[in-house]
Amino acid sequence: MATRTRTGTGTGTDDTDRRLGRRALLAGGAAAALGTAVLARDELARLWWRLPGVERPRVAGAVDFRSARWVAASPANYRRADRPDDYPVDRVVVHVTQGGYASAVKVFQDPAHGAAAHYVVRRDGRVTQLVRELDVAFHAGNREYNERSVGIEHEGFVEDASSFTDALYTASARLTAGICRRYGIPVDREHIVGHAEVPGTDHTDPGRFWDWERYVGLVRAAHTGAPAAG
Ligand SMILES: [Zn+2]
Repeated sequence: MATRTRTGTGTGTDDTDRRLGRRALLAGGAAAALGTAVLARDELARLWWRLPGVERPRVAGAVDFRSARWVAASPANYRRADRPDDYPVDRVVVHVTQGGYASAVKVFQDPAHGAAAHYVVRRDGRVTQLVRELDVAFHAGNREYNERSVGIEHEGFVEDASSFTDALYTASARLTAGICRRYGIPVDREHIVGHAEVPGTDHTDPGRFWDWERYVGLVRAAHTGAPAAG
């Protein structure tokens, strides 16, 4: 979005149009004509990634969490973006799959599913990443929350306390700690939320058996303890 791109020269109502005009000029390769007085070099660099069709370079199979394995979700289940430059990331949303790990990974690859999370954590602690954190995954059922959050699915069932194993909590907490570190997200219950807490949702996950106190404590420990974990 162009709303944060201001040069300080705008006088009011025509500001948006002139910004759009500038973008069009840049797209045409005429940036030099604008001169450095109009567009400082760092602003040009910042704008560049926002132009249609221009993205930060991506490496196939790359993951944002070091020990995750990569399985690509269907592009129909997320929107390519350039977070945190275009959307600040300030939430982690905790989900529970209501099914097995394999079926969660499978449906996120299905273009008809219409949803995917960034990560799925298996009962034994294995972490799979399906959508890059750069991108907006459709997991929260709320556009604003999708744009501002990273979504983590956990294998299990909301009504089965035994779903949530030590290995699952530990692996997920390391993952969330890394996310919080990458985006400067405070480790607390305001910023680490359950799907059930997303405004407008009718989902109940992670449910009453998810031990928030334990989880946030583990995230906090991983966050302060091991800088290289994420
Ligand atoms: Zn959910």
